[in-house]
Amino acid sequence: MTVDCVIVDAKAITPKGMLERNIVINDGKISDFTTDVPSCDKKIQAKGLVAIPGLIDTHVHYGVYSPIEEAAKTESRAAALGGVTTMMRMLRLGRSYKKYLQDQLVASKTNHYVDYTIHATIFDEKQAEEMQYCAENGITSFKIYMNLGGEVGHVYMDMDPGSTSLFDAQVQLETTTIQKVCQNAARLGCPVLVHAEDYQMCECGIKKAKQDHKDGLAAWSQSRPPDSESKSIKKVCEIAREYGTTIYFVHIGSATALDTIEQERKKGTKIFVETCPHYLTLSYEKQNGYLAKVMPPIRTKSDNEKIWSAMASGAIDTIGTDHVANRLKLKVGTDVWSSLAGFPGIGTSLPILLSEGVNQNRLNLQQLAHLTSGNAAKIFGLNDKGSIQKGFDADIVLIDLKKEQQVSSDFFGAFSDYIVYEGWKLKGWPITTLVRGKPVTEDMQLVGKLGHGKLVNRSR
Ligand SMILES: [Zn+2]
Repeated sequence: MTVDCVIVDAKAITPKGMLERNIVINDGKISDFTTDVPSCDKKIQAKGLVAIPGLIDTHVHYGVYSPIEEAAKTESRAAALGGVTTMMRMLRLGRSYKKYLQDQLVASKTNHYVDYTIHATIFDEKQAEEMQYCAENGITSFKIYMNLGGEVGHVYMDMDPGSTSLFDAQVQLETTTIQKVCQNAARLGCPVLVHAEDYQMCECGIKKAKQDHKDGLAAWSQSRPPDSESKSIKKVCEIAREYGTTIYFVHIGSATALDTIEQERKKGTKIFVETCPHYLTLSYEKQNGYLAKVMPPIRTKSDNEKIWSAMASGAIDTIGTDHVANRLKLKVGTDVWSSLAGFPGIGTSLPILLSEGVNQNRLNLQQLAHLTSGNAAKIFGLNDKGSIQKGFDADIVLIDLKKEQQVSSDFFGAFSDYIVYEGWKLKGWPITTLVRGKPVTEDMQLVGKLGHGKLVNRSR
């Protein structure tokens, strides 16, 4: 019998440690580990490279500043070049899921290079009533934004497919909505993703900073302090305990937030924690300009160190990028207040983690595999993904830990015309990315077929 593909001479990071074998792939799955090379249609030479599970990026915004049928092409291309094999879209639908979800699903279907899933954001009680409908359509995780309300309730929803108009909206997240979402999610067996910042504290902080004519990333951080994260963490955890809901805190980047989460865990709340590469590498003490404006804000170098050690100790479960596919023209305003929050990051996540993490001995490859793939697969029910094991999807990234390259947004070919890491010289890059056994990139070039990426089946 001839198999589809063999990765020859790879060092594979498996649950049992590093395995020096050939990886045999058939029908999109990992079928065997061998010392010989069976007859195959395709051979990939991996000498000197390490095979890790393809990244599952838990947190991706695309379809907001360009419609999903376009955004899926550009952003999944950047994903593939960055070693990401599954991108989890944060869908913000400004209206009924029952009426408008199918349009989004159809427009997504033929336009991805890599696999994808969707988290549905719930903004009000009407949408909360549609959670079961979402779950029946494969969307088994829900997000709430505790930072939206009052004068800081503005948000851009995802565009309608086929349109290029920004979808402006004003959101007021009520406590009753949080309760409904937690209750329904627990009943459906789905986690609730929480953007934990208290909108009232942020509203106050921004007002005061503007009155005092402050500007810059330090002022941005001070205007929405870590205490506002703590306040909303405590609030949602109390509700979650009442209903037995699993909470997944997105983009945690401050020591204070982490400490509060630890306390809430001790009270019996079921919690998972995500961080992002920028909370490991950027601080308002080092970064200038407005490019690194994000919510919650980047904090201090000491927060960076705390997040690194929390990843190594297991206090943090996953790494998502909070990738926002926007452009400079919209991004940069006249001051920090008028600049747009969020920036692209899906392509640079793995190079950053290899260069600043693995190659600096802050993380080992086993930890990296759990943080970037394995844990997310378990939390979100992607049962065939997240591990290099027999029977699993052959979502594999071959990395070269010694490869040095400067970051440039051109390389990734995404929608954005900038990257916060532009010019950073990183050591450790993905070379080849396979999604269900098919190379999507080879030798750092896109070779995949558009439409190969599928909506992943999830269990709950
Ligand atoms: Zn986000």
